[in-house]
Amino acid sequence: MDLSYSAEHEDFRRQTVAFIEANRHLAPRPGGPSALAWQALLIENGYAARTIPKAYGGYGAEPDILKSRIIAEEFARAQISPGMGGQGISMLVPTLLEMGTEEQKVQFIGPTLRGEMLWCQGYSEPNAGSDLASLATKGELVGEEWVINGQKIWTSTAHLAHWMFCLVRTEPDAAKHEGISFLLFSMETPGIEIRPLVDMTGAANFNEVFFTDVRVPQHQIVGRRGQGWQVANSILRHERGSLADPNTMLSRVNALADMMKTETLDGRPVMDNPIYRDRLMQIQGRVLAMRCNDLRLLSAAVNRQNPGVAAMVVKLQGTELRHELEALAIDVLGELGLLYGDTPRLRGHGSWQRDYMYFLGLIIGGGTSQIQKNIIAERGLGMPREAKLASA
Ligand SMILES: Cc1cc2nc3c(=O)[nH]c(=O)nc-3n(C[C@H](O)[C@H](O)[C@H](O)COP(=O)(O)OP(=O)(O)OC[C@H]3O[C@@H](n4cnc5c(N)ncnc54)[C@H](O)[C@@H]3O)c2cc1C
Repeated sequence: MDLSYSAEHEDFRRQTVAFIEANRHLAPRPGGPSALAWQALLIENGYAARTIPKAYGGYGAEPDILKSRIIAEEFARAQISPGMGGQGISMLVPTLLEMGTEEQKVQFIGPTLRGEMLWCQGYSEPNAGSDLASLATKGELVGEEWVINGQKIWTSTAHLAHWMFCLVRTEPDAAKHEGISFLLFSMETPGIEIRPLVDMTGAANFNEVFFTDVRVPQHQIVGRRGQGWQVANSILRHERGSLADPNTMLSRVNALADMMKTETLDGRPVMDNPIYRDRLMQIQGRVLAMRCNDLRLLSAAVNRQNPGVAAMVVKLQGTELRHELEALAIDVLGELGLLYGDTPRLRGHGSWQRDYMYFLGLIIGGGTSQIQKNIIAERGLGMPREAKLASA
């Protein structure tokens, strides 16, 4: 694996760093400039939506995996927002580029990239989480409209979203994986009811969503009828890759190390304590291993090779490791780690406490650790498949 960059790429890195330095005062922060304006500036300069065609609201650069990597590294190093993420940008846009019709690309990609159209993901149901293909929400074609009835659960940001991408069962007589379609619809469509669910951070980030005779124009299907499972799988690949960025994790390790130099234990910096320092070193070692794994993925992508198991471990390792990192921070803070809410004694604006709880959720969301281990064992290592009940 050759880790050196060409002169062209080194030059690109210098330009990226210069852009960040010149514009960091415009980056979004509480009470400061807006995320929408920052997003527009990033797209205009090719630091967000870089390779998405101009016709769909992107910057239109030729794909260059190394340049995209340099951007991710430098924004993470500077601890500055790399632009908007969310389920629309990170999951739906790549899927529409791959499988959407021309009309869908034109209608949805631009406003999504600009942050004007927010999306939620309607997959999970009360009896269909890990076993997603058991979903029961029904979509019936009546005339030129799909009529949807059923319920979703754990729908993150449904209360803020303008649109939903949703899996519904449209072919009740087909085999479990073959009877599902992938529909897009506005959250203002009559018949949608959103009920908030309070999570352990105290915020209501996800919801139950109920559908009663929700009517969706026929053309708002992505991919072919009954083939929503393939579309969903494409999305899950994008989701799982985006949940565990080692560059962000590394900058978080550095922030924790800084905090351990300033917080004290028995009057001495926490960093001087061998037990805490040892925990930090172990986490740092694993984060660096994730970064090396990430370089393997990069190298496979540049050489158009199948990354195999290297890609399958990212979600499992990344989310669990991030949670351990935040847990160490809570321990380092001692009694201050118990604080929650608005108090002047909070460190890092309360981000350690918030992320500790948030990343516990991410070990489950997007596919639980147990399911990730099944995938690695069965598809990655070729171990025997999990025994299934005869009725499943
Ligand atoms: C923070 C967060 C955000 C989310 N956002 C969304 C969203 O926006 N949209 C959406 O549709 N969903 C969302 N989800 C739901 C998420 O996808 C599901 O929670 C997840 O797929 C697990 O499903 P479940 O909760 O039904 O648990 P279950 O599938 O019932 O699993 C319960 C337990 O059994 C284990 N288990 C189940 N099957 C197996 C097996 N075969 N082998 C070994 N162990 C197994 C699981 O790992 C888990 O520990 C979110 C969840 C979280 C936590």
